[in-house]
Amino acid sequence: MKAPKYSIIPKPQRYDTVDASFTVTSETQVLCVPEFVEAGKFLTDYLKTKANASDGAIKFNKDSSVPNEGYTLRIYGDGVVITASDSAGAFYGAVTLKIMLMQSKKESGKATLLGADIYDYPRFSYRGGMIDESRHFFGAETIKQTLDNMALLKLNKFHWHLSDDQGYRIESEVYPLLNSVGSKRKYEHLNGKNLPLSKICKHESEESEYFHYYTKDEIREIVSYAKRLHIDIIPEIDLPGHTSCMIAAYPELICGGEACEVVTENGIFKNVLCPGKESTYKFVENLLSEVTELFPYEYFHIGGDEAQLGHKVWKNDCPDCKRSMEENGVKTAAELQSVFMNRINAFLKSKGKTCIAWNDGMTDLTDSGIVCHYWILRNPLWVNKESKKRKFILSPVTNFYFDMSYSHMPLKKTYKFNESKFGITNDSSVLGVEFETWTEWITDRETLEFSIYPRMFALAEIAWTKEKYKNFKDFYKRLDFFKLYMKSKNINYSRLEKKKLGIKNVSCYHLGVKGNEYKYNETLKD
Ligand SMILES: [Zn+2]
Repeated sequence: MKAPKYSIIPKPQRYDTVDASFTVTSETQVLCVPEFVEAGKFLTDYLKTKANASDGAIKFNKDSSVPNEGYTLRIYGDGVVITASDSAGAFYGAVTLKIMLMQSKKESGKATLLGADIYDYPRFSYRGGMIDESRHFFGAETIKQTLDNMALLKLNKFHWHLSDDQGYRIESEVYPLLNSVGSKRKYEHLNGKNLPLSKICKHESEESEYFHYYTKDEIREIVSYAKRLHIDIIPEIDLPGHTSCMIAAYPELICGGEACEVVTENGIFKNVLCPGKESTYKFVENLLSEVTELFPYEYFHIGGDEAQLGHKVWKNDCPDCKRSMEENGVKTAAELQSVFMNRINAFLKSKGKTCIAWNDGMTDLTDSGIVCHYWILRNPLWVNKESKKRKFILSPVTNFYFDMSYSHMPLKKTYKFNESKFGITNDSSVLGVEFETWTEWITDRETLEFSIYPRMFALAEIAWTKEKYKNFKDFYKRLDFFKLYMKSKNINYSRLEKKKLGIKNVSCYHLGVKGNEYKYNETLKD
């Protein structure tokens, strides 16, 4: 009979069982080549072992033939050997071993590991997740817990949506009004008055002021926390649309310079930056210089989505924008947006950054160096054409928008994602995949967790495991262990996916405050 396998998500590319076992005790040594010391520490923090001599050991070795971020993990009778070519690979080997230890039989301070021979490496280099903290703010503790769970699933990019109509969430010394005006809004809630969901949204303090931002020190602390987990943090400053928070603070940024307030509702607004004025570029460049100092990584998200209401003003009413269109030889406002995005891109490129922008803000003029963040579905021909010249991050609204209710996007739907359906025929144009958690309707940590888990496990397997090794039934079985893990951590994961949902209100599009679905779920048993 074959030895049982441990439940590992994402599924390793190759996992063979070995007829052996190795017992880890409090005296088992963890031996590392110098550059893998961090990975070793990740394990010893968990094991709390003392470095005394003993019969066997957990060893970290370097071998440059192992693929980037990959590892081999061998558990035999005489010990454990993890081999990697880089520190990320050593870390992921340690993560897999930790998951195995969590599942192993423990007796009087000893854990018995079953023999294994694993060869593993990621399918995509970009394995991401996004949380929107402009609409609602969750704070450092929630973000760190999300990062811990992302690391356990070998996700490596945290996209942090820190600026939108409803609030600017980074301390700014260059433009302090972005905090004293732009980080505040009148009401705590976002009003979903145009959607039936408003009926199930209850808000406690209608008249209180909602005022939050991260100080630079707090951001640095989170960035360094994430670094230890091999997660890059990618900030998003959404431009030129979704900028009411900036315009409320500095009205000269909008065409015509008319003052507005920080938005308290959900939607698309005509408050967008004026790309016809030189002063707008000066503002954006000063601001991005300040933000890039906090985030040392390659990628920077510049948004670009849903600026269409502002486009009308650019084209019809603003003399500066009209002049700029003429000077740049463009005919449409969408093309003027490309001129704007390209200039921001050139600026950030000079700082060593690669820009990411949402696909609905792109035209044929958009610089091919800007990574396309594909969310809103376009025809496959467009995708196919674009994928020949630029890189993609895939976050289709149909599979990876975790603020969608489980009735619209059950776990299986997320898991069944296949990029060929979207017109991608060339894997090399895909940097990777990312889940999105927009928070117009998610006001508290409990609902945030409900939205993210367990769909994040499905996303992780898509990001890491080759398509041909994916299998929903098998995945669902492996998820059992992680449900226990989430329970032990008091994570409010959704139990809904197991039953046929039978959600009555099909127009319930997003999750509400403590979600309508969550209440429904409470009567379900595992
Ligand atoms: Zn203008």
